[in-house]
Amino acid sequence: MVGHIAWISRLLCTLLLAASEGPGPDEPTIPRQIEEQIRIFEAWDRENTPPAGAVLFVGDDDVDRWPTRVYFAQHAVINRGLAGASAAVLPRCVERLVTPYAPRVIAYAAGGRDVAEGRDPQAVCGDVAAFIKRVRVVTPRVPIVLLAIKPTPGSRAEHESSRRRTNELLAAMSERDAALYFVDTSIVLLDPQGRCIASLYNAESGWLNETGYRLWSLLLAPTLHRGLQTGPETGGATASPTGAAVSSDFEYVASKSSKTFHKSTCSAARRITEANLLRFPSREAAVRGGRKPCKLCNP
Ligand SMILES: [Zn+2]
Repeated sequence: MVGHIAWISRLLCTLLLAASEGPGPDEPTIPRQIEEQIRIFEAWDRENTPPAGAVLFVGDDDVDRWPTRVYFAQHAVINRGLAGASAAVLPRCVERLVTPYAPRVIAYAAGGRDVAEGRDPQAVCGDVAAFIKRVRVVTPRVPIVLLAIKPTPGSRAEHESSRRRTNELLAAMSERDAALYFVDTSIVLLDPQGRCIASLYNAESGWLNETGYRLWSLLLAPTLHRGLQTGPETGGATASPTGAAVSSDFEYVASKSSKTFHKSTCSAARRITEANLLRFPSREAAVRGGRKPCKLCNP
């Protein structure tokens, strides 16, 4: 019996040692569907030279389907979106999906799948935090832009409230970290009644269509510029004055609780608290979102 136990403990030690060479003992392996996509990226990288100091897009299907090279043509862009990825799996992919590129700024979008599977918002945020922590081990100051989890047409009410809660937590997380940004790309996809604006989605698949992605890209651009100005390659916090000009806020804003939109310079606009502030990339976007122009500033 004693010999039997000794044999089992030896076996366990061997298994733990073997496991410690790969993922940690508590860390599940990467699902095959994800592993295969990462291998394709790795094979591509061996044949080509990924740009150094690039804008790295990483995340789930929303990133995978996003024509980031088209919309961010002025930047060196690397897209490492993984179809079928969850926020839970991404921390395990950092060493292969982020570290090799030494990006200057990272745009992250994931978590929609987790929310749709009924996971708790705190747990989803915990996974995002784990991703960030792992990235920062190697690149401590890299700016990371978190994109809000987008609303999905026809999603269940409890998933929709969970999605909103997760986004609130992500926003709060970004406020505690100077190199972490949150862009609420989700608000422009909803009409004033909180329904998905059908014209921004592919009617059959429910993914964003070209118009949806264009809107996303417009919304992300200023924050991405801000991140690029503060990224490690440019000496951290010493952003150039041109960076401030590029990253100036959107021209059109509204309060979440109002039907009126303003120029950001309007006195009424300046009274809107940051928590209630909606930004629109264009006048057209504000009108499409169901807002009427302010009579004071006439946007
Ligand atoms: Zn106004």
